[in-house]
Amino acid sequence: MRWFRSASRIPRVKLETPRSRSYSQRQQQQQQPGTQRPPFGIAFDIDGVILRGRNPIGGSPQAIRRLYAHDGTLKIPFIFLTNGGGVPESKRATELSGLLGVQISPLQVVQGHSPFRELVKRFENELVVAVGKGEPATVMSEYGFKKVLSIDEYASYFDDIDPLSQYKAWSSKQAYDKNHMPRESQLSYNVLSDSVKGAFVVSDPVDWGRDIQVLCDILRSGGIPGREKGHQPPLYFAADDLEYQAAFPCERLGMGAFRIALESIFNKIHSSPLEYISFGKPNPFAFKNAEAVLRQIVSKTYNTGNIMNEAKEYKFSTIYMIGDNPSVDIKGANKAGDPWFSVLTRTGVFRGKDNHTQFPANLVVETVEEAIDYILKKELHA
Ligand SMILES: [Mg+2]
Repeated sequence: MRWFRSASRIPRVKLETPRSRSYSQRQQQQQQPGTQRPPFGIAFDIDGVILRGRNPIGGSPQAIRRLYAHDGTLKIPFIFLTNGGGVPESKRATELSGLLGVQISPLQVVQGHSPFRELVKRFENELVVAVGKGEPATVMSEYGFKKVLSIDEYASYFDDIDPLSQYKAWSSKQAYDKNHMPRESQLSYNVLSDSVKGAFVVSDPVDWGRDIQVLCDILRSGGIPGREKGHQPPLYFAADDLEYQAAFPCERLGMGAFRIALESIFNKIHSSPLEYISFGKPNPFAFKNAEAVLRQIVSKTYNTGNIMNEAKEYKFSTIYMIGDNPSVDIKGANKAGDPWFSVLTRTGVFRGKDNHTQFPANLVVETVEEAIDYILKKELHA
């Protein structure tokens, strides 16, 4: 039996952030024990599917709106599953809500670095460095890391660590000195003598030259630039995309390209090869995690009791991954297997006439709007 026989049976519950005052009241009012829940979920890639730069593409606003009821409450469980990042999930949710004209909850935003929060226990009180565009240190602080510095701030404590900084009009050190009061006196530890215990590449690095230099300094010294060789601290990447679709007409180099550059250089100047862990798609972990998040959304939306138990038990018949990058979105969804179903759009990295040869998708469409049309027709007989 399918859950959607009658449109009136589709439960309408607004997804809100737990901080909202009326959240629990509304949840109680809107609980519909026994209400049938949709057996499918959707994961959208963002860059090249929903947006190019900051502009919506492929009819994404109207496609996403179809997943909500007329009163703006969520009807179909979906998340954004992106390898991008650099801002906290709450901020990205607000941004996406504005661009797409619907209410997106922070829970619906799964970024490349979102799994870093699972590492808080290990590094909670250790000095860690966060690399990348945006607000990498804020992202990590929000996850619970207590001693985290952005690589901009960290580098600013070491005189002459970047011999080229004088040639960079945009140098982050100069910008940092100009915009910030010296923070060392406010910190409860000495940046120059405290070992960095972990390095996290949160988002695409901005100053590759400086960042590769400082990361090599940290990683080969055992955590303190300028010291003798030591054991390499752990290094984590939020994702490993070689290329991605941004506003420019053809692909741009991504975090995977930075990883290759860092690894090649590190392995030339250090006796043992670079050790690292990459998160994000196409890693099967990213899809397992996405499925768990979708289950939480179903539990919150179609609330019938204990969220944790509900979330563990709920099984999807199909989860659609809609992406533009065959070697990231499609390879990952295909590898994750049941219940994942891969949908490839032609609005980003992939532009082929037929299916991709190396990583063929279960379905190829022009745009995300066409993908949603297919899914709703198939699932709702709409
Ligand atoms: Mg993409």
